[in-house]
Amino acid sequence: MANVTGYGRFAPSPSGDLHLGNLRTALLAWLFARSTGRGFLLRIEDLDRVKAGAQERQLEDLETLGLDWDPPVLRQSERLPLYEAAIARLTAAGRTYECFCTRKEIQQAVTAPHGPMGAYPGTCRDLTAAEQTRRRAEGRPAALRLRAEVTEFEIHDELLGDYRGAVDDLVLRRGDGTPAYNLAVVVDDAAQGIDQVVRGDDLLPSTPRQAYLATLLDTPVPHYAHVPLVLNTSGQRLAKRDGAVTLRDRLALGETPEQVLMLLGESLGYCDATTIPQILERFRPEKLPREPWTLDPNSLLQPSTCP
Ligand code: GLU
Repeated sequence: MANVTGYGRFAPSPSGDLHLGNLRTALLAWLFARSTGRGFLLRIEDLDRVKAGAQERQLEDLETLGLDWDPPVLRQSERLPLYEAAIARLTAAGRTYECFCTRKEIQQAVTAPHGPMGAYPGTCRDLTAAEQTRRRAEGRPAALRLRAEVTEFEIHDELLGDYRGAVDDLVLRRGDGTPAYNLAVVVDDAAQGIDQVVRGDDLLPSTPRQAYLATLLDTPVPHYAHVPLVLNTSGQRLAKRDGAVTLRDRLALGETPEQVLMLLGESLGYCDATTIPQILERFRPEKLPREPWTLDPNSLLQPSTCP
């Protein structure tokens, strides 16, 4: 796209239909991008959790809702050489090591004395060559980890302000050979020229790791905005089992795409907006609700947040 100042993006995992929480995040990512003159890209994060046909349905749903994006749509499964190139670069700089630990061993190990809670305790960080050879001979394929030189990293979030969070020796390539999410996301955001990352605030704790990794790969750290999630009436994160929560569920109940969009718009404080351009015109990030939105999928008529 010509004359854009950068790119925003939505990066769904094709594990099933998008629910209203995912669609609301997609709408917000689109609004942040378009309101700042950015292009908007879609990236299918299909390194795992893939359900056949899900990505086509996700794209259809975004289109039905009225969102548009700049081609091409990238698929992570087609970009493995890029992730391997980044891993090779980190390895050449002495910043990786093989890890032979099982999940259970990691859970049982005491967290490193000065490390962040829940962080990888560094069991395999300083194995001798002989120990490495012995563990390799046991036959379990090694994961590859980052040799991190910090335990924390600070990022700035447009909605949440400064956020300092844990960085550990995160996995770059899993034992089964699949590049890890944290690596792929950083490599792709950089390669796609994405300088604005808008996503659910459940991903905020991963962000310091990703930003640190970006600095190690000499790529700019994007602007971040983590948006509140949508909750069910029990206060838990909205899930498919909560009822009619996908666009297709709502259409099957007789709602129109405009009504679903209106519902999402209302949840953001934009009343009576039935088209995306109407919402875009009124979009003010600083006025967005900072609290999660509670949705009762069993009630067709949602209580309006509008006066
Ligand atoms: N693929 C991730 C998800 O669907 C989102 C990753 C991101 O936005 O950075 O949860």
